[in-house]
Amino acid sequence: MPSEDPLLRAVGVRKRFGSAEVLRGIDLSVRKGQVVCLLGPSGAGKSTFLRCVNHLEPIDGGQVWVDGEPIGFRERHGKLYELREREVAKQRRDIGMVFQRFNLFAHRSVLQNVVEGPVRVRGIEPDQARETAMALLDRVGLADRAGDYPAQLSGGQQQRVAIARALAMRPKLMLFDEPTSALDPELVGEVLEVMRGLAEDGMTMLVVTHEMAFAKEAADEVVFMADGAVVETGPPARVLGDPREQRTRQFLARVL
Ligand code: ADP
Ligand code: MG
Repeated sequence: MPSEDPLLRAVGVRKRFGSAEVLRGIDLSVRKGQVVCLLGPSGAGKSTFLRCVNHLEPIDGGQVWVDGEPIGFRERHGKLYELREREVAKQRRDIGMVFQRFNLFAHRSVLQNVVEGPVRVRGIEPDQARETAMALLDRVGLADRAGDYPAQLSGGQQQRVAIARALAMRPKLMLFDEPTSALDPELVGEVLEVMRGLAEDGMTMLVVTHEMAFAKEAADEVVFMADGAVVETGPPARVLGDPREQRTRQFLARVL
């Protein structure tokens, strides 16, 4: 794959639930090391799009490539063949996902939460996985909480563990779906701080967020979506500061 090809490339992604057309042909790319923030009103299809990227939702049209691989398919002699779930799961290992709700295993310690995936799914030696997990917990500022259980942590700390857990799989791409929306306001900053650090370290990230200040500083590009379509795309200063589309202006007037 030529290096200028985006790490994530979605072309014409369509998704319907029954008669509702929820994604109406989404084109979106994220280059290696870039941070793209996906903005838009509730119901725009942002979460559905993220789920389509890692094939948690099968798509009805279009195609998604991550690092040159068609997600959910294998390319052979220029033709695409649908993969079985087990093989899709393999592709999905390269895509880290952090949700609004932290989804940690409640009956496992913080450390066990981070070690679990690499050992069970990647086949990493437990000792090595623990070492890596401790380094990641240190990176999110929680090395001293490794032995605690999720319920003993604040929401912000749990979300930081969820980020460490996703990173432990060594993803090529990280997807975030409103990672701070469920947090008390005073806990939002610590999670955004970790995400900023990741961005600075060159992680490729697609982030659904309503945190406009984060989008403004951390994003290389913002994509504004409404009603299942991309309305406008551009550098944050331009899209947030001088939106071209009426739909974007309306949305920003409400959230800024
Ligand atoms: P956003 O994340 O931008 O708020 P969503 O992707 O969650 O938007 O939802 C987009 C639309 O798709 C909404 O109208 C929602 O009700 C609908 N939708 C999402 N998931 C499902 C589903 N599993 N079944 C039916 N409708 C769904
Ligand atoms: Mg959503």
